[in-house]
Amino acid sequence: MPERTRYLAANWKMHKTTEEAERFLAEFLPQIPDSAEPEIVVCPPFTSLKTVIELCFQSPVRVAAQNMHEADQGAYTGEISAPMLVDLGVHGVILGHSERRQHFAESDAALALKVPAALGAGLEPILCVGENEGQRDADETEDVLTRQIQADLAEVPDARLSEVVIAYEPIWAIGTGRTATPEQAQEAIALIRELIESRSREGAEAIRILYGGSVKPDNAPELISQEGVDGALVGGASLDPADFASMVNAAV
Ligand code: PEP
Repeated sequence: MPERTRYLAANWKMHKTTEEAERFLAEFLPQIPDSAEPEIVVCPPFTSLKTVIELCFQSPVRVAAQNMHEADQGAYTGEISAPMLVDLGVHGVILGHSERRQHFAESDAALALKVPAALGAGLEPILCVGENEGQRDADETEDVLTRQIQADLAEVPDARLSEVVIAYEPIWAIGTGRTATPEQAQEAIALIRELIESRSREGAEAIRILYGGSVKPDNAPELISQEGVDGALVGGASLDPADFASMVNAAV
């Protein structure tokens, strides 16, 4: 079985000006190990991507965007394409975050185009999936995850599945302070891995599947040490350099 490198990603959402991003990195970079594991990815808003890329040059930190359009170019006012992100030196892109699904009507049909477009341009997609509270209470978690994974990855060739990073993010745990139990995270992630396995055994062994939802320095070590959980996508707690550094160091 291939070793999967652990992965810690910081989703800054709509936070931090360029000056605040600079201050974050001035504190954060000296606190992290200069090692290949875990992979560390910071996802700032579009406006500070370039600054963060320049300041992380010669550090182990990679930079990802939080969204992109599926077309390379065109009459899509306000949108940004994958080739534009690659041109800036961006490494990856979060796709299908629940906040985009909820507030901006991001659909599985759009994601079925965005994920292969990201891969085609050379970006690492970080695909977010997860159920809401009502769906969990109605015992629909498995159905929701199955539908999202099947639809969003439908156009990704089996041989490239391992290049996608998946974040299991139960919506009821995002920004709420409620965290999935390690067992709930592990169970959902195992289901996602089985869905990938139904298309490619090698893909399922190599793909990184993260947990996201109110991960903080005090619960990160237990969550990311669960069998099959390859790291975390951290929102609120990644805005503080000491907190995010402590989670990175817990994953070393
Ligand atoms: C997220 O934004 O992906 C997230 C998991 O947020 P939080 O850690 O704040 O719940």
